[in-house]
Amino acid sequence: MAGPPVYESTLPWDPERPDTTIITCVDGRWYHHFQEFAREYLKAGHRTDFVAVPGGIEPMTLFDLVPKDFNFFKRRLEALIESHGTSRIVAIAHQDCAWYKDRKIGPFTIDMRERQIKDLRQSAARLREMFRGVTVETYFARFSADEPKRVIFEQV
Ligand SMILES: [Zn+2]
Repeated sequence: MAGPPVYESTLPWDPERPDTTIITCVDGRWYHHFQEFAREYLKAGHRTDFVAVPGGIEPMTLFDLVPKDFNFFKRRLEALIESHGTSRIVAIAHQDCAWYKDRKIGPFTIDMRERQIKDLRQSAARLREMFRGVTVETYFARFSADEPKRVIFEQV
């Protein structure tokens, strides 16, 4: 049995479904930048669906390598898009992503940005095949060169 309520949200409830799903990494340092980008640049409204896993879109590239990760992600995305009537998918990768960092191989410094952009493009192509009629956009978020750092988004 549940105890008494501990908190009541001050925000009004709006039952209308957002039309955009954003696929990102879970990194909390970047999350409010993603949300502002969605609101201000993508004009995706004040609420969007978020599918967030460490590394963002990466499971979509694992069709051959780790099919169970690919299938986990794909099944959930299919269910979401079908039940929510999603018309737009936006995938965002970010600089300094721990997931991509951890996958560095041996002593070699791999250009993770290049790898992440490749993953975004490959995933976008697959998503467009899977979800006909759904718009797919991909972006890379990175730091500006100046201090203090700002977050900049590029379409890739
Ligand atoms: Zn990350």
